[in-house]
Amino acid sequence: MAIRTILTQDDPALNKVCHPVTRFDDKLADLLDDLKETLTQANGMGLAAPQVGILRRAAIVLLEDESMLEMVNPEILDQRGEQPGWEGCLSLPGMWGNVMRPDWVKIRAQDRNGQWFEMEGTDMTARCFCHEISHLDGHMYTELTERLYTAEELDEILAQEGEQANHPKRERRGRRRR
Ligand SMILES: [Zn+2]
Repeated sequence: MAIRTILTQDDPALNKVCHPVTRFDDKLADLLDDLKETLTQANGMGLAAPQVGILRRAAIVLLEDESMLEMVNPEILDQRGEQPGWEGCLSLPGMWGNVMRPDWVKIRAQDRNGQWFEMEGTDMTARCFCHEISHLDGHMYTELTERLYTAEELDEILAQEGEQANHPKRERRGRRRR
């Protein structure tokens, strides 16, 4: 396994539509292992292959129980509701935006062996599914928010809203990037 370099916003790889994964081989396994290691080191909540310069439809999402879900060729099957929330991205360090996402999302994806599975996610997991799958289509969350805030600005806003006192867990998880 190896830690790969996470590309940042100006890199053209982040605006490309990624190709489906067709070979479920050792190279894919290496990529998924590297994504996991890179995500752990970056202390993020999700990471997509194009963020490390690989234009293939593969991504990792950190689930509520802190386990990592591998998604190969993921697609959104259904979604409901909406939730506003703060979102950051490992490819845009230090910046945050308020992004409306569905609060329930059902996906299907393949695992590293090519086996299809379905999974439902709410709250932060639903947000992560949307964020990572968007990366595979070359989209960044910044397209969905009116303005970006620095970490300092966000701290001020959250302090004013009293969210830090009321929702420490949500705040902690919400501030991790994808
Ligand atoms: Zn991201």
